[in-house]
Amino acid sequence: MRLGIDFDNTIAAYDALFARLAVEEGYLHEEPAGGKTGVRESVRAAAGEGAWRRLQALAYGPRIAGAVLMPGAGEFLSRCRQQAVPVAIVSHKSRRPADQSVDTDLRQAALGWMREQRFFTADGFAIDSQDVHFEDSRAAKVERIAALGLDAFIDDLVEVFAEPGFPAGVRRCLLADDRTAEAGVPLPVEVFHSWNEINHVLLGAD
Ligand SMILES: [Mg+2]
Repeated sequence: MRLGIDFDNTIAAYDALFARLAVEEGYLHEEPAGGKTGVRESVRAAAGEGAWRRLQALAYGPRIAGAVLMPGAGEFLSRCRQQAVPVAIVSHKSRRPADQSVDTDLRQAALGWMREQRFFTADGFAIDSQDVHFEDSRAAKVERIAALGLDAFIDDLVEVFAEPGFPAGVRRCLLADDRTAEAGVPLPVEVFHSWNEINHVLLGAD
């Protein structure tokens, strides 16, 4: 079995970081509820689209150290290592942010975060850094997923699975929050509500 995993909001969680940055940057007086979506709506309403773009550039760039592993993701990656299941990370991520006032390399920032979390060391998750792929578009991401010959792909965004060219033989594993679950998703997507559930179904964990 070969597994592919998305990065932002699938492996790395930014909700608390976005809320903190919104206050630090002076866009909001207090941290809003509702995760990343709650922050986005509040910041857009209070300070506009440009402010939201700046927060994204900061969170995915120079402030990425404030991101955390999604609950259960570390256990999943450890189990992949134990079971010798190869893991590839495939992310739609441009090198530069849309907000050019933040000078950062988003791909290097993500790799640095993974290094900090011991993704690439033998006593960590033992992932080969060559198996981390950043792509410029969703179409290119799907092409990469097809080229890697994966058995399953895990992503928080159902649009990835709906993208034309998503390979038919790859299991589509959606890590859904309540919002996506309510919206309903097209078949044949398998919907999971936590990494523990994915761990159980894909790797047979208790
Ligand atoms: Mg994502």
